Amino acid sequence: MKKQIQQIIDAVKESQRILIVGHVSPDGDCFGSMFALGMELERQGKYVRTSAGEGLTDKYNFMRDYLNCCAAKDLDEEEFDLVIAVDTADDYRVGSILEPIFKKQPLKISIDHHMTNPGFSDINWVEERSATGELIYELLKEMDAPITVRTANALYAAIMTDTGNFIYSNTTPETLRLAAELVSIGAEVQMLAEEIYNKRSLGATKLMGAAIDTIKLYHDEKIAIMYADYAMIEGCGAVPADCESLINFAREIDTVEIAMLVREINKTRYKVSLRSKKYADVAQLAGFFGGGGHHFAAGCTLDGTMEEVMEKMLMKAEELI
Ligand code: 5GP
Ligand code: MN
Repeated sequence: MKKQIQQIIDAVKESQRILIVGHVSPDGDCFGSMFALGMELERQGKYVRTSAGEGLTDKYNFMRDYLNCCAAKDLDEEEFDLVIAVDTADDYRVGSILEPIFKKQPLKISIDHHMTNPGFSDINWVEERSATGELIYELLKEMDAPITVRTANALYAAIMTDTGNFIYSNTTPETLRLAAELVSIGAEVQMLAEEIYNKRSLGATKLMGAAIDTIKLYHDEKIAIMYADYAMIEGCGAVPADCESLINFAREIDTVEIAMLVREINKTRYKVSLRSKKYADVAQLAGFFGGGGHHFAAGCTLDGTMEEVMEKMLMKAEELI
């Protein structure tokens, strides 16, 4: 058994009250990993709380009965023996509300698949896999945990979303083998695809159109920038979580190597999502601005006006083309 897995199992054994946290703007890998792990820890008789961002988002509502995931602001002042951060590439990624709560816990564990993770916990299991869900599955197997249909759905959703439904370059033979195992256990492939990819509110649908309208191409059409601000999101009747996969529209343009989506946090602070297709290392680009992620998918946060942020990102991105 891997050293970190043994350490995690020992830490869990000695803990009764466990907090599981994920990153802001939580995605399928974040929720799926939190729930698959949390459900097993509850089965082991632990008191478990999970929290990430604003809590469960509509797209992942099919998991609402699996475990409660509260918004960071709704997490009660409680004492925990152990906190486990999943899919979270850096401590600040849990968000400004959870960060102090995370930091004050007596024992911290990170389970993550971002190679830019600096190892900010007491026990850090960081390994390059398609999704954190792959690591959680390995951990559950080492714990001899029963894999229920709910667990299989949560883990399948985790792996499916981070591999773009098994089409990104991070989809390895092992990824597909694990997914096949989850399907044979009962993961509901069609339901999950329907919920995650083939269903959205009218507001989210309109936001797609509005965001596509903002796309501009630079540098021989190899760099695409698009944006989404609150006025657009509200005007469309959408919610911020509906921005999750907007960047794919820019990435999918045939000439584009680097795609960027600039999202308003407030009028002087913007979140940038980065994607590349064949060669550009956007983790390095994000890292230049204090962010991180993977080679082909990364993110960072910048201060300034929308125009300033776009200008800075564009200048640095051009160096990678
Ligand atoms: P997304 O664009 O979908 O929010 O994020 C793409 C990838 O980059 C994800 O794996 C995400 O965890 C990572 N990422 C996004 N923003 C940041 C950031 O500010 N810092 C770090 N270290 N990673 C980030
Ligand atoms: Mn992930």
